[in-house]
Amino acid sequence: MSFSELGLGPELLRAIAEEGYTEPTPIQRQAIPVVLQRRDVLAAAQTGTGKTAAFTLPILQLLSTTGAPGPRVLVLVPTRELAAQVAESVRTYGRHLKLRTAVIFGGVGINPQIDLLRRGVDIVVATPGRLLDHLQQKTVDLRRIDTLVLDEADRMLDMGFIRDIRKVLAALPKQRQNLLFSATFNPEIRSLAEGLQHNPATVEVAPRNTAAELVAQRVHPVDKGRKTALLAHLVKQGDWRQVLVFTRTKHGANRLSEQLERSGIGSAAIHGNKSQNARTRALADFKAGQVRVLVATDIAARGIDIDQLPHVVNFELPNVPEDYVHRIGRTGRAGAEGEAISLVSGDERPLLKDIQKLLRREIPSSTVPGFEPGSAPTAEESARHAAVKLPEQAQHKRGATPNLPRHGGFGHGGGVRPQRDAERRAGKSRKVH
Ligand code: AMP
Repeated sequence: MSFSELGLGPELLRAIAEEGYTEPTPIQRQAIPVVLQRRDVLAAAQTGTGKTAAFTLPILQLLSTTGAPGPRVLVLVPTRELAAQVAESVRTYGRHLKLRTAVIFGGVGINPQIDLLRRGVDIVVATPGRLLDHLQQKTVDLRRIDTLVLDEADRMLDMGFIRDIRKVLAALPKQRQNLLFSATFNPEIRSLAEGLQHNPATVEVAPRNTAAELVAQRVHPVDKGRKTALLAHLVKQGDWRQVLVFTRTKHGANRLSEQLERSGIGSAAIHGNKSQNARTRALADFKAGQVRVLVATDIAARGIDIDQLPHVVNFELPNVPEDYVHRIGRTGRAGAEGEAISLVSGDERPLLKDIQKLLRREIPSSTVPGFEPGSAPTAEESARHAAVKLPEQAQHKRGATPNLPRHGGFGHGGGVRPQRDAERRAGKSRKVH
């Protein structure tokens, strides 16, 4: 099937061709026609499935056929990064149409946003908190909105946006089209959807666990205190050039990033305490290959759009099993293969169990030679680990062993590469109920 069969106009087809897309993804095939019919849509889709284009393209099509004043479309997203990315997609796909987009999020000055809104826009892409500020200051008028998109609705609820969302909903006209996209469906999401939607078309394509189809997952059991050394080893041994590493806390992200830097691996941390500029810069350096390892917390990583990210590492397992699925969704995107490695210490076993229960499968596990739990580090690794851990001592050790090889001789990576495990996963995807 081609894009031209989906009911999109020539300007959009041209932009799609310029993007190099040859055929619609499954979610696009299903969602585009029903959005064009102005039906409500309830879609189970996670990042990497082409979901952004699945709602953006038909919305642009609908907008292009009416010249009514705006804003007519409101897209609510959980994070600044996602807001920027969705707006970017709107601009990309809409580049041959004359539509104006405002992207509204916190952490940056409000005045440029006010100016932009005052000049008139067709589409508003916003995070709930800042949009509410504009509503309260009456610098945005949502009374003409006829299409509402809630993107990554599950994450918006996780982040505690439900009250803000409800306040925004109250400012919208009752008659409107509602599109809800969510990677996961729990009772809260369902109740939000029920209150919002009328006889929605349900679209489910990249069931969360099949996005994982392309991702080879593996667990490496390891002692807590040796995780940094193991990570450095994997990165160097595998010559990994672009690795997204997840930690549980902002502090942990900073610390790990510093430790990796000290062991000679270019690294940057990205999390909520960093300014928008610092985050954008870290992401740009990472994309440009200037930084090999990007260490992120779950929330900061949401909405990071990097094509074909080859490696994702869970330095610590997330407390919420769903976050594991979100995390590994960062790799194997848009048809590329990727691998997701979890470094699991003894105390994280219960978390691993919960994740496997959610996935309804066991993640293959193997120890990395030299890093078996309970095994003593080799002398060389001790030295390097110390260099990683303690800056003062590191100076001393480096001075003492000037010829230390960068690539350690311990462990030869046997059994490190994960095997594909697609059959076992077949047919085990979760359904929207
Ligand atoms: P998303 O799920 O919206 O985050 O999209 C994931 C990635 O897939 C983005 O980088 C898009 O540019 C890309 N993409 C979206 N639709 C297609 C398509 N039909 N063919 C190829 N790539 C696509």
